[in-house]
Order: sequence, then C-alpha cells, then structure tokens
Amino acid sequence: MKLRLDDITAEAKETSFAEPESEINRILGQGPVREYRVEGPIAVSVSYYRAGTDLFFRGEIQARTAAVCARCAEEFDASAAGPFRFVLAPKAIGPANEKNLKVDDLEFSLYDGDEIDLSPLVREQIMLSLPTRPLCHEDCRGLCPQCGINLNREMCGCREVRLDSRLAALRMLKVSRP
Ligand SMILES: [Zn+2]
Ligand SMILES: [Zn+2]
Repeated sequence: MKLRLDDITAEAKETSFAEPESEINRILGQGPVREYRVEGPIAVSVSYYRAGTDLFFRGEIQARTAAVCARCAEEFDASAAGPFRFVLAPKAIGPANEKNLKVDDLEFSLYDGDEIDLSPLVREQIMLSLPTRPLCHEDCRGLCPQCGINLNREMCGCREVRLDSRLAALRMLKVSRP
C-alpha cells in the first residue's frame, strides 16, 4: 500500500486496506521467529496527517495468525489485533528530528521520494507484536520429556519415574522462563 506524499495533508485522512500476507510469511520463514504463519491478508486501518515535513500515522492492524506452541508443538490460533502509531521524517533532516521524536516514544522511520510505502511499516508492526516464544496457554504442560505425550491431553506413566537431576534442572529452567 502506497500513499502519495502530496495526498498527505495537515487534515487527517483515513483509509483501510488489506496487506497481502505472502511477504511477511517469507520473512517469518527466515527466522528468528519461525513459529508463526499469517493466514490471510492483514487488515489495516490507518489515519494520517502531516505536521510540516513530519508524517503521522495511527491505526489498527488485524492479522489471522497461526503459531506453533513452544512447549507442546501444537498449532494454535494466535491472531492478533492491535493499535500502532508511527512517525516518518524526511531522510534529509533525519538525525536532528530523530532525537526529538524519540522523546515522544513513537515508532520512528525516515522517508524519501514522493511516495510512502506502508507495507514494510505494517510488516514491522506485526513482527513487533509477536512474542518470541509462543505458548498455546500460559500454563501449557508441554510434552512429556520421556515418552513425548502431550500432557495437556493425557497423563502418562512416566511421572512416576524419578527424574534425574539434570532433567529436573531442565524443568526448572522451563518453568522459570516467561
Ligand atoms: Zn502448548
Ligand atoms: Zn511420559
């Protein structure tokens, strides 16, 4: 999705569009966050305006996303909807502006030329919203380290077996991670 620079005026305008999911899936496939797959076009609604040469965008993104749980390896629906906000400043006067804008704690980028391509910015917002370690549920029990059974669904006999200290340490590690 591209906007012409001339069409971004002091008066706020709104638009919505569907961003194809193919490019973000290609990026996700390369890692480091491989556990996600976007399952359809990303719905974006955005309002935008300019103040001088700075361009302000705010809106909402909805992405139907599937993820693979980091504990039990089951696929689950990790669809996310969330607001975003970012500012673009012209490349030519970037550094000075960057300092001011960072104070406002906004996502900040530079633009160049007479068109603004929103697609990479949308993809970046999606990437930022994905947890690095997806869990199907906060208290997912994961797989039995011995027989591999999904402990969310059934119990196995292995629990009776005393874990050796190394496995116990590993379990502690898993539990303490966020
Ligand atoms: Zn799980
Ligand atoms: Zn087991």
